[in-house]
Amino acid sequence: MKKVAVLGSTGSIGTQTLEVARTNGDIAITALAAGRQIDLLEKQIREFQPRLVCVFEEEKANELKTRIADCSTKVVSGMDGLIECAVLEETEIVVTAVVGMIGIRPTIAAIQAGKDIALANKETLVTAGHIIMPLVKEYGGRLLPVDSEHSAIFQALNGEREVLPGTRSFGTAKAIQKILLTASGGPFRLKKKEELANVKVEDALKHPNWAMGRKITIDSATMVNKGLEVMEAKWLFDVEVDQVQVVVQPQSIVHSMVEFVDGSVIAQLGTPDMKLPIQYALYYPERRFLPGKRLDFWELGSITFEKPDMEKFKGLALAYEVMRTGGSAPTVYNAANERAVAKFLNREIGFTDISDLIEAAVKEHRFMANPDIADILNLEQETYDFVEKLCGGKEGAACQ
Ligand code: MG
Repeated sequence: MKKVAVLGSTGSIGTQTLEVARTNGDIAITALAAGRQIDLLEKQIREFQPRLVCVFEEEKANELKTRIADCSTKVVSGMDGLIECAVLEETEIVVTAVVGMIGIRPTIAAIQAGKDIALANKETLVTAGHIIMPLVKEYGGRLLPVDSEHSAIFQALNGEREVLPGTRSFGTAKAIQKILLTASGGPFRLKKKEELANVKVEDALKHPNWAMGRKITIDSATMVNKGLEVMEAKWLFDVEVDQVQVVVQPQSIVHSMVEFVDGSVIAQLGTPDMKLPIQYALYYPERRFLPGKRLDFWELGSITFEKPDMEKFKGLALAYEVMRTGGSAPTVYNAANERAVAKFLNREIGFTDISDLIEAAVKEHRFMANPDIADILNLEQETYDFVEKLCGGKEGAACQ
């Protein structure tokens, strides 16, 4: 049995991870963690019988304790509880599927405990890649990407990477020329720049190909998600940010590609189903049967490619800028986006205000060249406050 802990078990990636575990039948779930959705968590506990469970909110944790008094599962709460779940002795792989910067500390703890990480939390590498990557090398666990694009790149690099001596972590593929990160272009790919100011929350939530959580669906509509993925790819595959090129592939069939120094391009293709990258990460390097729809190229006919419109999707252009700046800039980009998306979903601001707020926050923040984890978490709070102030103080301005 493979022993897996799932942090963020009630979210989209978390529930699909448990589906993969259920289908395969040889994965033992050691620990589960969720924010506050204890109804679903209770069902998961009764089915998978983990030894440890964390509910981030203490009040909800206490409620769950009463409900599952007949189970042997231990319930913990808060950041300490989340870290306890991340480092549980018997766990081999920790799936980090919590949303937001809350994922950084548990991910670090798991790396330091020598676990393999199936990484589904973007914020960890975006904000702390400069801390995380050296740690992975030092402690020797593997960092296995779950994001579909990064899984595609990881698969395309099979046999091209080397395992670092004395560790189980991966070294650079020196043969990489370019990473071609594909993007669907989101629901507004065909809209004009001027039309974006008035789009509604409902329109932005209609992703053409992928069914995902609400925050990431908005991030896909602004293409900020692709910006975060460019940063993730830079760290994961040890390339310069300008070696990562975004290619719009509206059918979401080509999940990403790698161009090598000899001009050869290797791509990974498949139907848009997150269970594939999840299962690949959990069983790597073994490739297993996965039930589901197969690509039918006769039916498909064509796969098309486009250049992204960096003016229309300012959030993507900004991602390249903050990554070139480095230091604290990506943290501020991410935090400003997080708060702005919450405000957009709450109908407090318009769609294009999201990238305007990111731009303002990055420009105004106190820059730090080499932030540590405490700095990163402080910067996050400062950025949240900045966005609030900007939106609260100026009626009809950046935030109408
Ligand atoms: Mg993705």
